[in-house]
Amino acid sequence: MRRRKTRTIYLGNVPIGSGHHISVQSMTKTDTRDAVATINQIKRLEQIGCEIVRVAVPDLEAADAIKVIKSHISIPLVADIHFNYRLALKAIENGADGLRINPGNIGSRAKVEKVVKAAAASNVPIRIGVNSGSIEKEFKGIIKGEGKKLAETTARAMVKSALKHIRILEGLKFHNIKVSLKATDVQTTLTAHTLLARERDYPFHIGITEAGTLLTGAVKSAVGIAMLLLKGYGDTIRVSLSAPPEREVVAAYTILRALGLREQGAEVISCPTCARSTIDVESIAEEVEQRLLGISLPISVAVMGCAVNGPGEASRADYGVAGGRGRGVIFRHGKVTRRNVDEASIIEALLSEIDELKGRR
Ligand code: SF4
Repeated sequence: MRRRKTRTIYLGNVPIGSGHHISVQSMTKTDTRDAVATINQIKRLEQIGCEIVRVAVPDLEAADAIKVIKSHISIPLVADIHFNYRLALKAIENGADGLRINPGNIGSRAKVEKVVKAAAASNVPIRIGVNSGSIEKEFKGIIKGEGKKLAETTARAMVKSALKHIRILEGLKFHNIKVSLKATDVQTTLTAHTLLARERDYPFHIGITEAGTLLTGAVKSAVGIAMLLLKGYGDTIRVSLSAPPEREVVAAYTILRALGLREQGAEVISCPTCARSTIDVESIAEEVEQRLLGISLPISVAVMGCAVNGPGEASRADYGVAGGRGRGVIFRHGKVTRRNVDEASIIEALLSEIDELKGRR
């Protein structure tokens, strides 16, 4: 697939744009004012490969907490701010690497100028974020019709809103911008990106907003994000889930890996199980997946339930186990390394084959 050509911006040391890999981000779900809880959550995200983290900044106490949070983490931090320019200034002063704020919602020109000046001085990019559910009144009249027509008119209203905010920044000679256009349905999201891509070359932050709980949200996000990526849109992604943020990161990498866009980390392949299964595939696969989070080399690990189809599949993966009468056969790069491993020892036996984990034991 060909990526839409964009300019590059930098969030801290992470480049975002078509000349670079598609970065993975998440958002903390802790109270930002609770710096310890927020740092701990970000550290867990760092361990599993999250590359950018966003924190909500609802008040000055939260903006103040950024200082201590930043001193304990190593990935770039984006401050998510609604309306209040003082919070934006404080966040920049405390070391935020990026802002998510819509300049059109800040208020007077003087306030906007202060924020933009501070952002420019600290080389802090601003993300303009338009959500279909909160389009300004002035553009709501554009939204008409049903079905396809509704998707198209909603997308047009979203793009008009985005351009309004973009022009404010451009008017102040500020181009360190990325844009997100999030709708709850895939067609509207896709149309909005297509329309804005004709107008500007700023990188896109993509995702499906309010996607849902773990399973439904991940599926909906995968469909939406994959459609955008296949059209070449998307330079950084966040999967939004009503689930722990670590799950968002896993979902994001899974989507990128399925499309061949990132190879980092372990892919666990497991069979759906059937009456032939002789081991507890589900719980073994779940635990193996958890234990392999954060691994940096691209590897595939198969967990298969029986000796009928299992060995073939397991041997195609880098590492694998296939069940047989409550016991397991362990494979490594296509060769059997251990037979007759009892079920309780399968996970340890499988993980002990993985080179990258050896240094951690
Ligand atoms: S690998 Fe074996 S247990 Fe798993 S679905 Fe296939 S036949 Fe069933």
